[in-house]
Amino acid sequence: MTAREKEPEEGPKKVGILAVQGDVEEHVQILRDLGVEPVEVRAVEDLSGLSGLIVPGGESTAIGNIMVESGLLDGVRSFFYKGGPVWGTCAGMVLAASATNGPRQPMLGLMNALVTRNGFGRQVHSFEQDLEVEGFDEPFTGVFIRSPFFEDVGPGVEVLSTIGEKIVAARGENILVTAFHPELTDDKRFHEYFLREVCDI
Ligand code: GLN
Repeated sequence: MTAREKEPEEGPKKVGILAVQGDVEEHVQILRDLGVEPVEVRAVEDLSGLSGLIVPGGESTAIGNIMVESGLLDGVRSFFYKGGPVWGTCAGMVLAASATNGPRQPMLGLMNALVTRNGFGRQVHSFEQDLEVEGFDEPFTGVFIRSPFFEDVGPGVEVLSTIGEKIVAARGENILVTAFHPELTDDKRFHEYFLREVCDI
């Protein structure tokens, strides 16, 4: 067998982080700690060979506009619709929704849900809150920074956590969303949950 014909070696699984804007470095570090290879995704080609993709927090309008220009809006949709696991945090949760009750903006539309942006007030209203999460034994401290919430979800979406009526974590078959920022805490349970339950790693 020549070198070219050799089977690719079984290395660590690769998980992408959309790296056009926002909280990228924190996710890179946590993924490394959990034994997967982080890949910063800036172009459609970077999506190939990934076992999952994180769409991080930032500003969803800015991220969405850059994704339109780079072709990543369609690229990520096609990754997802071929079964690729996606996790949207905060701005990523906004982008993942199928509809917004705010002004029009580019959306990925991966999840049957209506999103309210900045649903807890603006920057001054950033806060931390202990959340009960479906499937977690102990509460998880959510860091909320101008976070969205889902007002309503359709069939196929399982609600994982709420604050009152506001849905702050949810999942579908190959998608997870969190309104808060697990990458800004020392608690890796949401990253572990994504890798294990959604990416099947
Ligand atoms: N408010 C931002 C948006 O709607 C999200 C903020 C964040 O990701 N921390 O896009």
